[in-house]
Amino acid sequence: ETLDKGLEKTKTTFFSKLSKAIVGKSKVDDDVLDNLEEILVSSDVGVDTTLKIITRIEKRVADDKYLGTSELNQILQEEIASLLSETNTGEATEFVIPVNKKPYVLMVVGVNGVGKTTTIGKLAYQFKKQGYKVVLGAADTFRAAAIDQLQIWADRVDVPIVRQNMGSDPASVAFDTLQSAVAQDADIVIIDTAGRLHNKINLMNELSKVKRVMQKVVADAPHDVLLVLDGSTGQNAFEQAKQFTAATEVTSLAVTKLDGTAKGGVVIGISDQFQIPVKYIGVGEGIEDLQVFNKYEFVDSFFK
Ligand code: GDP
Repeated sequence: ETLDKGLEKTKTTFFSKLSKAIVGKSKVDDDVLDNLEEILVSSDVGVDTTLKIITRIEKRVADDKYLGTSELNQILQEEIASLLSETNTGEATEFVIPVNKKPYVLMVVGVNGVGKTTTIGKLAYQFKKQGYKVVLGAADTFRAAAIDQLQIWADRVDVPIVRQNMGSDPASVAFDTLQSAVAQDADIVIIDTAGRLHNKINLMNELSKVKRVMQKVVADAPHDVLLVLDGSTGQNAFEQAKQFTAATEVTSLAVTKLDGTAKGGVVIGISDQFQIPVKYIGVGEGIEDLQVFNKYEFVDSFFK
């Protein structure tokens, strides 16, 4: 039900627009498809992914000769589910550490303000609740506030944090964190990183140095590079995904703030455009308001 509530704005807006688009129409015609295209784009599904969806529906219209507007919901639901299937597995309800990946090293990237710290805090909380021993690493050393914010979450969740002074080498913090995690026999390490995008080369260098240095402690670290994107920023989120995927290998996505936006379609578009699975979605500010992304549940609550 959290997910239903989290997607409420997207859903309401989407369906009120959709029902307006098909009012007085019995079959899916060019007019309906044009409107649908506009609705998908305005839900921030993104132009490319929208066109993909429209093309698929056009094909079904052509194959069927007659496609009633009453079936449009069902068809859209099927097409979006199949699109999400290309990147997202979808059954997951909670995270399980893969075998031989202990400590599991999760490196979190994203620009300031997207909800990176909050997401790390919520993750630490979930992992701990599952019985995992978690250590946080404050490798966003560029801003003092970032370290302090992470400390607040570490205290709240009651997990250890490794930190140094502001301005210290992020790679050194990451190294210390992994060493400490190994010494404590921890299960999961979450490394926060600086989110400055103004200089792509710097970002690239910094992230690859952090990775390289972590590998001195855990040879195959990081096991996951999670990019946090603010779902309410629409096209900005696409732009950030472009920049970060160019700077480092991003292996999964967390899309935050879906509760405050009618643009939840961004989840579909970003996952499709970048062919990266969405692992988590943020649906509120509270500690419990982070969900393991399940594509079935997502499509379900979107269309319910
Ligand atoms: P950071 O700068 O990327 O580390 O961002 P923060 O974690 O400090 O989050 C910035 C703001 O976004 C804070 O006020 C958070 O409470 C808020 N926030 C984070 N995730 C969510 C979410 O899923 N929903 C809502 N409504 N707010 C969120």
